[in-house]
Amino acid sequence: MTSRTTRTQVVIVGAGPAGLLLGELLRKVGIDAVILEQRSADYVLGRIRAGVLEQGTVQVLEHAGVAARLHAEGLTHEGVEIGFHGHRHRIALRELIGKTVTVYGQTEMTRDLMEARNASGAHSIYEAEDVTLHDWRGTTPRVTYRHLGVTHEISCDFIAGCDGFHGVCRRSIPADQMQTFERIYPFGWLGVLSDVPPPWKELIYANSARGFALASMRSPTRVRCYVQCGLDERVEDWSDARFWDEFRLRMGEEIADRTMPAPSIEKSIAPLRSFVVEPLRFGRLFLAGDAAHIVPPTGAKGLNLAVSDVFYLHEALRDYYREQRDEPLDRYTSRCLRRVWKAERFSWWMTRLLHLFPGDAFSRRIQQTELEYLFDSRFAQSSMAENYVGLPLDYEAHEARAHVA
Ligand SMILES: Cc1cc2nc3c(=O)[nH]c(=O)nc-3n(C[C@H](O)[C@H](O)[C@H](O)COP(=O)(O)OP(=O)(O)OC[C@H]3O[C@@H](n4cnc5c(N)ncnc54)[C@H](O)[C@@H]3O)c2cc1C
Repeated sequence: MTSRTTRTQVVIVGAGPAGLLLGELLRKVGIDAVILEQRSADYVLGRIRAGVLEQGTVQVLEHAGVAARLHAEGLTHEGVEIGFHGHRHRIALRELIGKTVTVYGQTEMTRDLMEARNASGAHSIYEAEDVTLHDWRGTTPRVTYRHLGVTHEISCDFIAGCDGFHGVCRRSIPADQMQTFERIYPFGWLGVLSDVPPPWKELIYANSARGFALASMRSPTRVRCYVQCGLDERVEDWSDARFWDEFRLRMGEEIADRTMPAPSIEKSIAPLRSFVVEPLRFGRLFLAGDAAHIVPPTGAKGLNLAVSDVFYLHEALRDYYREQRDEPLDRYTSRCLRRVWKAERFSWWMTRLLHLFPGDAFSRRIQQTELEYLFDSRFAQSSMAENYVGLPLDYEAHEARAHVA
């Protein structure tokens, strides 16, 4: 096996939304980056995940020059609904706080980013095996990997760990150099994707006596629906018919009557977890996206946090190269974590509000009372709306800074 050595400014580990978007943002400010991804591009594109984009996320994608198809095909939603006791209550996002969300599948966003990267000729290596980080505490980090049987080494100025929750970057840091915060929930989400036009206009989050359910969509011809399930359940035990029967029971009569039990094109179970690591900078290694934090999907925040992290990281690196100062890099952790913890709080709150938890009658009554308060109070609805559409990303300040520079 021969060994080859190259050099770049930033090595990005992981070609999920965080890694690909960081690559585009850095390219726009003239910083070279190589992306190393352990899977094939087709495998990455085959993963069905998030679909609700905050307004700030859309702005960042516009800024990166990858929002044309998103604007042509994304669905603007001005509200969300919450089902409880057979009735639905609308949280009117635009009316309450003047903002909306956009429904556009993570897969589509990933495809747009991959195409932009291919068109620019920027360097991505898929199916990179045994990615290993070296010397990230010093000023000359290196990353080694194997590709098609050949060992490669890239020397760089910085490493961006965008390799998701199970990636190698966070695992490379000794446990005593970081603090982790975690909550595991006693249930998961069973999700089904079907090619059928959604019979609902906006997302419906249902709290039912049988457990939580979510009616969602990815496009005008594709639905994505979930039911809360036990952690010990297996996808094989859920036929399509069983899934749709359960979904309809949880959604209430009106939605049940409109729901077509269409065949699934994807079906999977995801556990629910809250997780944060602190700090996010370790010498010349930075963590971003799911590598640094996980939220339960109830608040639709995971993908949006990945976007805000890499937005802040590209600003920090841009300012470092322009000013040759460490200070912008030092601020990365605190800028991200301010936003991350607020999204963690909101996702935990939504999860607690809407799911059936094993436990006492007192907790269930408190949950019911919290829902009634939400339905009755415009202030409570505004607070939920403000968090659901996403707290400010500081994008306007970025525009101002970019203008001055
Ligand atoms: C089933 C599911 C449903 C979800 N639904 C929602 C939702 O509705 N709303 C929402 O906002 N969020 C949702 N999320 C979360 C959202 O998808 C993630 O927050 C988002 O993918 C984070 O992007 P990322 O780029 O940080 O990580 P990832 O998308 O995980 O990308 C990390 C990449 O790194 C690669 N990698 C890993 N290890 C290595 C290695 N050693 N070497 C090289 N490459 C490596 C992986 O193959 C992967 O391509 C969901 C997640 C899951 C799993």
